[in-house]
Amino acid sequence: KDGLETVTEGKLTMATNATFPPYEYYEGKKVIGIDAEIAGEIAKKLNLELEIADIEFDSIVPGVQSGKYDMGMAGMTVTPERKNSVNFSDSYATGIQKVIVTKDSKIKSLDDIKGKNIGVQTSTTGDLYATDAYGADHVKKFDSGNAAVNALKVGKVDCVIIDNEPAKAYVKANGSALKILDTDYAVEDYAICFSKDNSELQKKVNEALKELKKDGTVQKIVDKYIKA
Ligand code: GLN
Repeated sequence: KDGLETVTEGKLTMATNATFPPYEYYEGKKVIGIDAEIAGEIAKKLNLELEIADIEFDSIVPGVQSGKYDMGMAGMTVTPERKNSVNFSDSYATGIQKVIVTKDSKIKSLDDIKGKNIGVQTSTTGDLYATDAYGADHVKKFDSGNAAVNALKVGKVDCVIIDNEPAKAYVKANGSALKILDTDYAVEDYAICFSKDNSELQKKVNEALKELKKDGTVQKIVDKYIKA
């Protein structure tokens, strides 16, 4: 049989969590964003129809690992721990963990976070860093970045640790109520994850990604969503 084996014949099923602008978020009833568009271009190259499943962030890796979805694409950072469960594509973007606080917050630097309550999205790298650096007792987990930011706005947490581009989007959406601290965490690589049993799809996606980077498509999509 020729053609790629996928969960649903003729389709490329991507698991994501659409609370992560500008990578994946809703416009009306449709999931749009950098990841959704790059995935759409990859699907085209593979002669498949893209289908997006919007699920909890911490269900993406298990769902891909068990073969329920063809791939996971969710501004997902490549980490050694995740690599134990899934394979990753080449990286297509980078992220940096940032700290969001309220405009008048006493938190001015990372040192000031000690002993404060930190909001994170469950199982994200922000969650891992916060837990490592400040202790699990101080980390309040939410099922979306949006929920963490809402908790910050009403004073239920003192800051939120989240990736830089969603941080910018959330701050922008909240007028002048919030701000991002000027900190520099290490840069993370975002990549697409696959089941370890499907290296054929991983290979094909990497080929497509390579072409899309080379012909400028990836950059064009990034520029459409991230204004310099
Ligand atoms: N880059 C972070 C991670 O991989 C956050 C991703 C997300 O919330 N969608 O953990």
